[in-house]
Amino acid sequence: MELFAPRGTNDILPDAVGGWQYLERIVRETCERYGYREIRLPLFEHTEVFARGVGETTDIVEKEMYTFQDRSGRSLTLRPEGTAQVVRAFIEHKLYGKALPFKVYYIGPMFRYERPQKGRYRQFHQFGVEALGSASPLLDVEMIALPISLYRAAGLHEFEVHINSIGCHVCRPAYREKLTAYLSERREALCPTCLERLERNPLRVLDCKNPGCREATEGAPKSHEHLCTECHDHFSTVRAGLDAVGIRYVLNPRLVRGLDYYSRTVFELIGLDLGAQDALGGGGRYDGLVEQCGGPPTPAVGFAVGMERLLLSLEARDALRSDGRAPQVYVAALGDAARSRALEIALAMRQAGLRTELDYEDRSLKAQMRTAQRSGAQYVVILGDDELAAGRAAVRKMATGEQSEVPLTGIVQWLEGRVNG
Ligand SMILES: [Zn+2]
Ligand SMILES: [Zn+2]
Repeated sequence: MELFAPRGTNDILPDAVGGWQYLERIVRETCERYGYREIRLPLFEHTEVFARGVGETTDIVEKEMYTFQDRSGRSLTLRPEGTAQVVRAFIEHKLYGKALPFKVYYIGPMFRYERPQKGRYRQFHQFGVEALGSASPLLDVEMIALPISLYRAAGLHEFEVHINSIGCHVCRPAYREKLTAYLSERREALCPTCLERLERNPLRVLDCKNPGCREATEGAPKSHEHLCTECHDHFSTVRAGLDAVGIRYVLNPRLVRGLDYYSRTVFELIGLDLGAQDALGGGGRYDGLVEQCGGPPTPAVGFAVGMERLLLSLEARDALRSDGRAPQVYVAALGDAARSRALEIALAMRQAGLRTELDYEDRSLKAQMRTAQRSGAQYVVILGDDELAAGRAAVRKMATGEQSEVPLTGIVQWLEGRVNG
């Protein structure tokens, strides 16, 4: 039987890894500039963490989780997203008792059982940013500014910022009732999924892509026009803050986000390079979540992005760079004595910090030079028995073909002074 990777997974081979490393470096540098520190959490959690944290009525929890029993019969789930487990860790380690806001970012694989398509996998990667312990609208603005800086640093400049406010536990129930009444009068126009949503999560009907549903919701009540005074003031300050820092946005009343835990500000970034399906991440406030998961009342705001989508978007704009690095030096050797000396020299170069590769198979000099050329090495050290007897090596600079005779005793220092990073 032939072995192959499970459907919906993606092997990231060494030639592609440089692009990932490039993007991950920009994520780390940007997050750290904004004062966020990395957090690393397990790939699986007790199922309860997501059932409670993400919400029982969400698509993720109902249909998409990889849930299994371990050998002692506990129900565990591969993490489908990052926020619920950051909240779990925040409560478990009593981080609410330390300096607030608690500002962290994460990068790593997530797991959802979805229909695989371009840029969407069952094991996919996200980075996310969370700030827990402050209700300040300034944090909402910062949370929108951060991914914009990051995308610009990575080379993406064309996107739209969509924002909305979906209110809080005070104002949302009344809005929800108004919306449900409006939708109930238009039942026959709604798709089967939306008829289900109507009972349990009517806000989701607003972001249905079905043309019939879109038409039916054209004149639906807008959440940002039904906010309580506190939510209204909060949202006004967020909008004024975005204006003040020069971030242009679209007020989008259909933007509700799929997860139950959001409140007040929600936002999405939409890339303008991949057609219609080009959400470049989103987030919002989740002021009630920490308390709902058993911690003290703690306002919070966060953001997450799928890395695969982002990489595709960078590729489409020819903006994807690579952090993959070629060897600086290649050691080519001919003859038994020279070969054993070649390893010694290569080890000394590596010890000195030079990325060094060599031939292991006693191939012809021509074959070794070809490999060196393909590897992208800047210099090739050529070592034959004659050179060895004379205590020297020939060193060729690949870019120019220029060749020098260098004494073996000083060859490491000689190369250290010449290679580029
Ligand atoms: Zn409110
Ligand atoms: Zn629908």
